[in-house]
Amino acid sequence: MNEWASRLESSVEFYRKLPDKTCQECGKQMDEQCESYENTCPSCAEKLQLSE
Ligand SMILES: [Zn+2]
Repeated sequence: MNEWASRLESSVEFYRKLPDKTCQECGKQMDEQCESYENTCPSCAEKLQLSE
């Protein structure tokens, strides 16, 4: 789990200069077309909606 997180972190750092957004729930990189989901990817947004 931690290993994956640090891999993801370097990946995020690599793309830091790009305006790509990442999901605040899972850290997954999101396409700009996902603007309607703000800070979460479609899959996490769906989970959040279901849990509400
Ligand atoms: Zn997510």
